[in-house]
Amino acid sequence: MAQIVRHQTAVVNVGGVEVGGGRPIVVQSMTNTDTADTTATVNQVAALARAGSELVRVTVNTDEAARAVPVICDTLRNFGIQVPIVGDFHYNGHLLLKKYPECAKALSKYRINPGNVNIGRRTDDNFRTMIEVALEYGKPVRIGVNWGSLDGVLLARLMDENGRLADPKPPEEVMKRALVQSAIESAQAAEGYGMGRDKIILSAKMSAVQDLIDVYRMLARECDYALHVGLTEAGMGAKGIVATTAALSVLLQDGIGDTIRASLTPPPGGDRTEEVLVSQQILQSLGLRSFTPQVTACPGCGRTTSTYFQELAEKIQGYLREQMPVWKESRPGVEEMKVAVMGCIVNGPGESKHANIGISLPGTFEEPKAPVYVDGQLVKTLKGERIAEEFMEMLEDYVDRRYVPAARV
Ligand code: SF4
Repeated sequence: MAQIVRHQTAVVNVGGVEVGGGRPIVVQSMTNTDTADTTATVNQVAALARAGSELVRVTVNTDEAARAVPVICDTLRNFGIQVPIVGDFHYNGHLLLKKYPECAKALSKYRINPGNVNIGRRTDDNFRTMIEVALEYGKPVRIGVNWGSLDGVLLARLMDENGRLADPKPPEEVMKRALVQSAIESAQAAEGYGMGRDKIILSAKMSAVQDLIDVYRMLARECDYALHVGLTEAGMGAKGIVATTAALSVLLQDGIGDTIRASLTPPPGGDRTEEVLVSQQILQSLGLRSFTPQVTACPGCGRTTSTYFQELAEKIQGYLREQMPVWKESRPGVEEMKVAVMGCIVNGPGESKHANIGISLPGTFEEPKAPVYVDGQLVKTLKGERIAEEFMEMLEDYVDRRYVPAARV
């Protein structure tokens, strides 16, 4: 694992999952179903949890949604799915949490957006009510600031103060300061109402990568609350994935971030679990956690015009992902395995030697043979029609021999 010095924070227990204090960085996600539709929400939470989401957030915006929450939690538990459910509240969270105690009890954490509770106003009853409910049921909160719904009173005050300076800062700098201040002042207010630091997670999300990095660096310098990191409204497809990866990688490399979410926009009817896989892949690529065996494949070039190695790499990648839920229990350590599938002799043998098991397929004009390396040693050279099948058999055999449960060692 990577040697990164983590930002020191309090540890927050969210329904049995520990966040912060140098614990493994937690992957979380959010549903996009109507929470009141219990079947759709249960199914999506189950899919996100199966994909590896360790916390799942659901919108709680109406009476129907609040009534559905305990049903959703009970149903998941009956299906053997233990993932903690987080409630995302805006505007009416104080009303819903008071009116529906079973919802308040069932949730493992409440997300509060300081921009749309009345914190900073003359009375902050709504914010205080949510904190009091959290205290009553022993729940942690995430104080989640978002630049799209930033506390207007605080921003106006900081803009006024800035305007009176001899050398005012650019408005975007004031905006970033307002985000940080909103998060920290809200957390301090929660502490003032009796909430411990071990019950508070902060986030301050923006949608521009450099701004997000600036804001989280400020937060990490100025407080020791556990931090939830994510690029808000990251967008669709490659743009969303790359922007999220760019932002989170810089921060994680700085040791900032205790739980992450990739806020990707799926295409209509698209698979919501992609956001979980992206978060996992960011953490695994940085060497911070391991979730699934990794396949190293070359991009291909004019030395191999065949798609054979691409098909084999894809087949192996799919096979490894499918097997992981079973292997997770039965093959300890397999998530750290590296498999190489390479297209020709130029980098094939070298890359394969660095993998646990690797194959160097023949490029165009090469002799039709494929050396297989296991733990750095050439163990076999495959030839003929069944190269792919034989390599898969060798891979399965390697997993069987190498990743043995403790009782069988
Ligand atoms: S390993 Fe061979 S086929 Fe693959 S990119 Fe390198 S030179 Fe091209």
